[in-house]
Amino acid sequence: MTRSPIHLDTDIRSFGGIASAAELLDLGYTRDALRLWGDGRRSRRLRRGWYAPRDLPEEVVAAWDAGGVLACVSALALADPGAASRALDELHICVPRTASRIPRTVPLRGRAVRVVAHWSTADHESGTRRGVDAATAVRQARRCARRATADASAECRSALAGAEPQERREQRAVTSGPGACPSATTPPRAPRPACAAACRASRGCR
Ligand SMILES: [Zn+2]
Repeated sequence: MTRSPIHLDTDIRSFGGIASAAELLDLGYTRDALRLWGDGRRSRRLRRGWYAPRDLPEEVVAAWDAGGVLACVSALALADPGAASRALDELHICVPRTASRIPRTVPLRGRAVRVVAHWSTADHESGTRRGVDAATAVRQARRCARRATADASAECRSALAGAEPQERREQRAVTSGPGACPSATTPPRAPRPACAAACRASRGCR
């Protein structure tokens, strides 16, 4: 029996807010009805063959646009908007290990945000079609924070290595040059712009 499209919004919500065409066809919708009503006032098409209510959060839609589900700091930020500032500039998604390539950026709230992908089939299956579960999001966020700190530390080491010859020159000038203070052993450390920027980015490098 053909199902009336007036139930479409309710039926999509009964699948957790995102339903496949196959699931809706099983309920009695026709392909024509999905084509006509799938992009209507109360419902929208996500990827090909997937439907959601119009009020699905934009972050979830963007994660689907990128080929995954919402994850990590982005999932935590959706639950608590003040919790994770990094989510403002990045969209963290989770994709199965078998997923194909993902885009570098996706549009979100009128601008392109960088996509950070967590490749894990188990994590991808941990929650709902909207995103990973809370425990998985917390674990991913901790791992991401450690990785950001490690990346920033590597940048610091690189900056220090690049600055070393100059520093040694300064030290020689202070400790052995004309007019050098005989008690000087180490010159005062000048700020290192590249390192400072990396540290600010990670907020964890010392
Ligand atoms: Zn992450």
